Order: sequence, then C-alpha cells, then structure tokens
Amino acid sequence: MSENQEKFQCQGAGTCGYIYDPDRGDKKGKIPKGTAFENLPADWKCPGRGVSKDRFKCLGTRSASGKNGIREGEEKGS
Ligand SMILES: [Zn+2]
Repeated sequence: MSENQEKFQCQGAGTCGYIYDPDRGDKKGKIPKGTAFENLPADWKCPGRGVSKDRFKCLGTRSASGKNGIREGEEKGS
C-alpha cells in the first residue's frame, strides 16, 4: 500500500469513539474508500458527533481486521 492507511479516532464528547478508517471511507460524508484522513476535506466532520478533524487522534497504522483491538497508550517512553 502506498496510501497512508492510518486510522483516526474521534475524541469529541468523550463517548463518540468513531474511528475513521481509510479502508472504508465515510459513507455519510461521501468520502470514498481509500481516502487518507489527511486528504479529507477541511470541513469534514465526524458522522457521530459532528466534531471537526482537529479533534481526532491518530491511532497509527493497523490492519483492518475488523476487531476493535486498538490500543491506546503507545506513547513514546520518557
Ligand atoms: Zn465523533
């Protein structure tokens, strides 16, 4: 894959948890599959809570295996 396949998770309102997956795009937002997060329109908003892109957190690159096996806390150590 030459595309950037990083996923981003919504941080809006604490309970949304929507994850933008470039493999899937965003049907509601008319984003075609394969669109990297960074290539989303500037006015794109989370389909769940309507928060803007800058409220999303990068989850890094993961295979789209369907499970919510995404870990947080992978900060780079001290
Ligand atoms: Zn959201």
